[in-house]
Amino acid sequence: MDMFKSGDVVKVLIPNVVNTGYDYRLNAPAEIGTFVECRIMNRAYIGVVWGIGDSGLPENKIKSVVRVMDKSLPVETLQWIKRMSDWTLMTPGAVLKLIINIPDAFSPPRVEQLYSFDFDAKLRMTESRQSIADAFTSNENEPMAVNDIVNIAHVSQSVVRGMIKNGTLIASESRAIENENRFIYAYHDMGNVKLNAEQSAAADKISNALWHGGFSVFLLDGITGSGKTQVYFDSALRAYKAGKSVLLMMPEIALTAQFMSRFESRFGAPPVVWHSNLTAARRRDIWRGVLSGDIRIVVGTRSALFLPWQNLGLIVVDEEHDTSYKQEDMGNYHARDMAILRASIEKIPVVLASATPSEETLENVANGKYTGLKLNSRFGGATLPKIETIDLRENRPEPYRTSNGENASDIAGALSGPLCDAIHETLNNHQQVMLFINRRGFAPIVQCRKCGWVATCDDCSVGMNYHKRIGKLMCHMCGHVEPMPDKCPNCGDDISTRGVGVEKIESEIAARFPNARTALVSSDTIASRQSLERIVSKMESGEIDIVIGTQILAKGHHFPNLTLVGVVDADMGLFGTDFRAAEHTFQQLFQVAGRAGRGEFPGRVLLQTYQPDHPVLMAICAGNRDEFMQADMDGRRVAKMPPYGQLIAVVVEGNKESVLQKYCADLAAVAPNIVGGKIMGPVPAQVYQVRNWYRMRFLISGDVRAKLQPIVANWIAHIKQPANIRVKIDVNPVNFM
Ligand code: ADP
Ligand code: ZN
Ligand code: ZN
Repeated sequence: MDMFKSGDVVKVLIPNVVNTGYDYRLNAPAEIGTFVECRIMNRAYIGVVWGIGDSGLPENKIKSVVRVMDKSLPVETLQWIKRMSDWTLMTPGAVLKLIINIPDAFSPPRVEQLYSFDFDAKLRMTESRQSIADAFTSNENEPMAVNDIVNIAHVSQSVVRGMIKNGTLIASESRAIENENRFIYAYHDMGNVKLNAEQSAAADKISNALWHGGFSVFLLDGITGSGKTQVYFDSALRAYKAGKSVLLMMPEIALTAQFMSRFESRFGAPPVVWHSNLTAARRRDIWRGVLSGDIRIVVGTRSALFLPWQNLGLIVVDEEHDTSYKQEDMGNYHARDMAILRASIEKIPVVLASATPSEETLENVANGKYTGLKLNSRFGGATLPKIETIDLRENRPEPYRTSNGENASDIAGALSGPLCDAIHETLNNHQQVMLFINRRGFAPIVQCRKCGWVATCDDCSVGMNYHKRIGKLMCHMCGHVEPMPDKCPNCGDDISTRGVGVEKIESEIAARFPNARTALVSSDTIASRQSLERIVSKMESGEIDIVIGTQILAKGHHFPNLTLVGVVDADMGLFGTDFRAAEHTFQQLFQVAGRAGRGEFPGRVLLQTYQPDHPVLMAICAGNRDEFMQADMDGRRVAKMPPYGQLIAVVVEGNKESVLQKYCADLAAVAPNIVGGKIMGPVPAQVYQVRNWYRMRFLISGDVRAKLQPIVANWIAHIKQPANIRVKIDVNPVNFM
């Protein structure tokens, strides 16, 4: 039944950040949620019918829509957009923009010249060649348009043109329209997995909720390898069989080939995969398939939550504690929380899975809002590794000697005697080692010890890091690089570096274990999931003895022959200014520890620390996850920090300090009183300057039940925003920079 007739005036929401809807006249019947095309200043937009027109403009001022589509977003989706906007203080148009982000969603597919990649060409693998190869791999090697290659591989047009010329990229046929349905698969349970008793008990509870309908949240809580994936596969198959759609969300890094093949062997067909590195053609075909209801299972990153779902029956959020679910900068939202909000409106179950759930989620299990489902044993009986600390106060790392040519020199080491002994032993047993340090580059501080000069970024108020591989200084805030000076620019004396990053560990290993085959894994060396997977397969085939890396290493992979994990600096995350520092350190170290001993040999984890008595480290060694979390949560309860209180951060940025200060002072002068809470600030943000913009921040706190969002929205709206000021509102912030 159509709600609106041709000729009615309706409000159309346009996917646009500043937009709250414009009035248009319909030229065909439509209902709430129907997609319509309309023009604003001669540009065509696809929007959705949002409600009755209410602008009060005279009849002759109201333009007609260009066309009414025969497709709609369900009413629940519109309710969700509204509620998400209320919660995050993004405009409804900004939320809609996350959903309608396919330029040619309602037009015929573009006919473009496509190119395929010649993987057999015997050319040197340069960095851009590798990125392009990876872009093809992440799209199953389908031919791509020049724009796709540029966007996905992050290379310039001219690089692509060059590769077309030299024959690396080969012109292929343009895209065939009949290809559009290529992602529509039928799934069924292949019956090759029989759940064990614990798994069945968990799967039955979820199945019950699916059967009875209604909103519910489950926490599937079990150590890595306990079989969580197979449990939610079971639930997904049930929801699918009942005719519903299923969204499986996970962090980008977890979308591995290993996962895909497990999915296919259980479901009888490959998953439809959604992430940010897809070609425009793939995005279009998947988006349209989801809208038509022909694609009913998608495995994807946080943006998959914004596909035009028709009949959602189940959402799974794997690694629910992962900070990659938090979107920052272009609108701040937490995809896990927005998934739960969506499920509450659609009245369906959500399954959160993790080996190290967030404290927010654990609290909701404790207070009965969520149902906890525990998997206690590792599937197939592999044992958890033994975790111990190495007290660095008693085991100072010895200097090591590098000899490049004749000038041999002694360098302060970062690996203690006991850790080196353990590495030796492991290598002698022909087993593998992982060394973890969550810092990119060679060293975080570049300094002159004579006059005290320190290398800092010109545009940001932070120090420059030394990156030895590229021989340059790099700012980790803005990415700016500069040559490493030979001598102190201030006094001409020698320059030295301080602190330890992955590259430094790599060189220490090269000096101490010259025969070991090593690999470095950090975001500087790993440009894509494919490059990570290359290292993974080298680990699996035993071509690597020691892998050294940052947190990219912490998750996901299963290396049967990895038996020693060394954490170079376990103290690093413990003293952040962020109230989640302890929780995040615990989660990270616990995940890293979970990498060892997943095969037939038991594993061992060594944490180097100056504080072996720190509660976080003691809890990790004792394997006391729940006790630790409980203690940390008690602390938060007292401090009224989330989840026992609410926080909203307002970061105000300006490129002129005086304008920024004046605006912040004006805001502070009209700050409202909050019952059971307060507005703190303005104070300079922890990083005061980024890319030459100055940053101030307010922090608003309140009770769990306080409705802070409308208070904040009204307050900010009170003072007219000057030009060149950006206000970023972050509800329940994770990042405190
Ligand atoms: P998690 O998601 O908790 O890390 P997985 O679901 O990946 O654990 O399971 C770990 C390993 O055990 C995988 O190789 C998986 O295929 C296997 N596995 C889990 N459950 C079963 C089962 N019921 N039958 C056979 N193999 C299983
Ligand atoms: Zn100097
Ligand atoms: Zn910078």
